[in-house]
Amino acid sequence: MQTNHQNKIVEDLLEFVAPTRCIMCDKPGEVLCEDCIEQIVCVDPASNCLACGAPFGRVVCSECFDMEFKTDICLVATTFEEPIPRIIKGYKDCYERRLGDIIADMLVDTFEHALVCDAADYEVLTHDVVVYVPDTARAYRRRGFDHMEYVAQRFCKSTNMPLVDALVKHKARDQRLLSREERLDTATYAQYEVVQEVAGRGILLLDDVVTTGATMNKAAAALKRAGATRVDVLALARVY
Ligand SMILES: [Zn+2]
Ligand SMILES: [Zn+2]
Repeated sequence: MQTNHQNKIVEDLLEFVAPTRCIMCDKPGEVLCEDCIEQIVCVDPASNCLACGAPFGRVVCSECFDMEFKTDICLVATTFEEPIPRIIKGYKDCYERRLGDIIADMLVDTFEHALVCDAADYEVLTHDVVVYVPDTARAYRRRGFDHMEYVAQRFCKSTNMPLVDALVKHKARDQRLLSREERLDTATYAQYEVVQEVAGRGILLLDDVVTTGATMNKAAAALKRAGATRVDVLALARVY
């Protein structure tokens, strides 16, 4: 077991051999420099679509008015523009933990800011327990870590909210191989399995990117089938 002191020596040595550079502009010093942090486009939680997080004002927006969401509130931190895609890629593919810290801290800031600027809508989120959308077992083996697990752990440490490791993601089964009855019963080929008790709980589901909402819907459907009373989403970025 390495001591903190030994870890610090190793870190200092690595820093000497290969100094940290900004993942966006290559400037030495930080993994993401001040100038590039300023490029992040935050979504104002007082004026986003509560259903999908899109930043078009406090209405159910044109992006999602005909969607059937299994989720309740969806709160997102940013829009999916640089440097956000680079941050996520650098974190997932290189397991650069400092980028995971940045992601978790952005989620914490968004959550706390939402409560300050619009407590009437967001106060309900504080009653929830935190669950994250996991990788498949295969992705986990390839990368050797679950990127959202680490983010969720840090988020819960900062917010003092309880973390429940409730979801397991299975590889999607080929629907062509299923019988008609199996296809009609969505639970049969559900990708997400709930492996912890969530009945009667409100869930704050953490995810990285909301694109069509299909992933959060599948995960939320599984959690609600298992008895969750509500499933709210807090995601880093919204693609729209
Ligand atoms: Zn930079
Ligand atoms: Zn919307």
